[in-house]
Amino acid sequence: HHDNDDLRSLIRTVPDYPKPGIMFRDVSTLLLDGAGFRTMIDRMAAMVDSDTKFIAGIEARGFIVAAGLSYALGLGKVMLRKPGKLPGAKIGVDYELEYGSDRLEMHIGHVGAGDKILLVDDLIATGGTALAGLDLIHQAGGIVEQSLFIVDLPDLGGADKLRHSGIKADSLIC
Ligand code: IMP
Repeated sequence: HHDNDDLRSLIRTVPDYPKPGIMFRDVSTLLLDGAGFRTMIDRMAAMVDSDTKFIAGIEARGFIVAAGLSYALGLGKVMLRKPGKLPGAKIGVDYELEYGSDRLEMHIGHVGAGDKILLVDDLIATGGTALAGLDLIHQAGGIVEQSLFIVDLPDLGGADKLRHSGIKADSLIC
């Protein structure tokens, strides 16, 4: 399974979603496959740095990855949420999308100063979402040295942006 072709074959590409010309990588078909999901989590868990304290997942598919890794490794997790979902004291970061903008929020007081946080999502494209997550974790006092994704679209440059910020950006499928 060296290049994870078994898992790659479980991800479908949907053309012209969400807009004409976009080739959407749809992980819902991988999530549908119980054995495939287990294999995915096992391989990702083996890549996680041993001194990781918490796993931060980005809503919504990043939560599925974070939950699997959290269970596999016995680590707590942090939710980086879309606006208006968190009841406690929180911070937020607005970030630009190709068309329009979005926002992520995170509870404060949960992550301790200097805690090492693994940032995860299903997919990294331009990196705007992951960089917003990074900004939030930094504001909350956490340290990020590693990020992990099921899929990287390297042509869009997001993983390289993280690496230029000194953060490892690993994925199962490029
Ligand atoms: P970025 O901010 O451009 O790196 O886009 C990554 C975010 O958008 C992640 O939260 C992904 O879930 C989502 N995303 C972007 N492109 C795709 C895709 O082709 N398939 C699935 N999710 C995508």
